[in-house]
Amino acid sequence: MSTIAQVVSCLDGYDPDALRVDKAGEAIRACLTPVIQTEKVPVREALGRVLAQEIVPQINVPGHDNSAMDGYAVRFSDLNSTNENKETNLRQIGTAFAGKVFQEKIQAGECVRVMTGAVIPQGADTVVVQEVCRDENGRVTVPPGQKAGQNVRAAGEDLKAGVPVLRAGQLVRAAELGLMASLGIAEVSVKRRLRVAFFSTGDELASIGTPLKEGQVYDSNRYTLHGMLQGLGVEIIDMGVVRDDPALLEAAFRKASASADAIITTGGVSVGEADFVKQLMAKLGEVLFWKIAMRPGRPMAFGRIGNAFLFGLPGNPVAVMVTFHQFVRDALLFLGGRTDSFEVPLLRAVSATPIRKVPGRTEYQRGILFRGGSEWKVRTTGQQGSGVLRSMSEANCFIVLEHDRGKVEAGELVSVQLMDALH
Ligand code: AMP
Ligand code: MG
Repeated sequence: MSTIAQVVSCLDGYDPDALRVDKAGEAIRACLTPVIQTEKVPVREALGRVLAQEIVPQINVPGHDNSAMDGYAVRFSDLNSTNENKETNLRQIGTAFAGKVFQEKIQAGECVRVMTGAVIPQGADTVVVQEVCRDENGRVTVPPGQKAGQNVRAAGEDLKAGVPVLRAGQLVRAAELGLMASLGIAEVSVKRRLRVAFFSTGDELASIGTPLKEGQVYDSNRYTLHGMLQGLGVEIIDMGVVRDDPALLEAAFRKASASADAIITTGGVSVGEADFVKQLMAKLGEVLFWKIAMRPGRPMAFGRIGNAFLFGLPGNPVAVMVTFHQFVRDALLFLGGRTDSFEVPLLRAVSATPIRKVPGRTEYQRGILFRGGSEWKVRTTGQQGSGVLRSMSEANCFIVLEHDRGKVEAGELVSVQLMDALH
């Protein structure tokens, strides 16, 4: 574990007042220590959790060579396959069903009717699909042109006993649930859930369900945060709204840091007179940076109080979502013990319109990716103010305009991040 001071001393070109986005991400990573505690859960409950153990199959899947089709199991050497026109006549000696093994061994000139999934009878090595065969009173005629081993699924073709298949640190998705079930695994060890506390700050905030007084706005940030955190599978501690009052804020920070692995606040990190969050973070803990060269989201603090990592997000609703997606998501997944790749892919799309942009900051404009003839095009959602939350709702992607990039002409390629990829 590195202290924030140590991390700062290693940062090349570190400017706490306007950190480049890539530098900020690296710096945050360098400070984080992933959770190590684990718990055992029934396999179904492992969905969305991070594996804490390697999975090594104790059995082969499938356990036996079995038929991929309904047909006849034959000995390939019996077939007149070399002669292009010659059929083979075989004697059917029984039937093998899925789950019901045919016990005898096939001898020369014999075949067994097999259903999909049935264990291949001893002696047989090839399955001929039923549609091409003729079955007349127990005599089966097989046409020429069959291939050795066709329509047979080999034992262990999916999973091999002794060969590791899942790693610790991997996210468990539906496929992994099924895979563990196919191995007969009923219980699995996962990393404990991360505990994330958050509160909104601001004297102007009203909670939903209460009437708005003059000058008030409803607190929407706690709801977007709730939604984004839910998508990450963490344990959520919603601490409500805290007034712009240093004593109340200090109490909230102390309470949160006593129980959470990470604390997220919104509002109060810019330079206004009631922006106490910043001062308190510095007083109670250590702060790595205050500002990032990005838009929206320029005022954003990252630091630590006790054992809890702190993300002081801006107050503006769009800035909250952008800074969460671009920094908090990555940090929380890493803290939660993920070791597989969860980087959000950057795709390239043709900008359908010009976009204004000045070099010197990374911008995350809200975009709509759409099919324009044979290629994918993107346009902005229009008004890009950091208070226009509607832009997030209308968007299906972020248009990521790199730090050094200037204005974009219509027809130029731009990078986009699909919002669906941001879980
Ligand atoms: P601040 O960063 O505290 O100066 O807030 C910036 C802007 O975001 C102000 O217009 C606030 O009213 C607004 N804002 C702050 N917190 C919230 C919130 N929880 N929900 C909705 N708007 C907010
Ligand atoms: Mg405020």
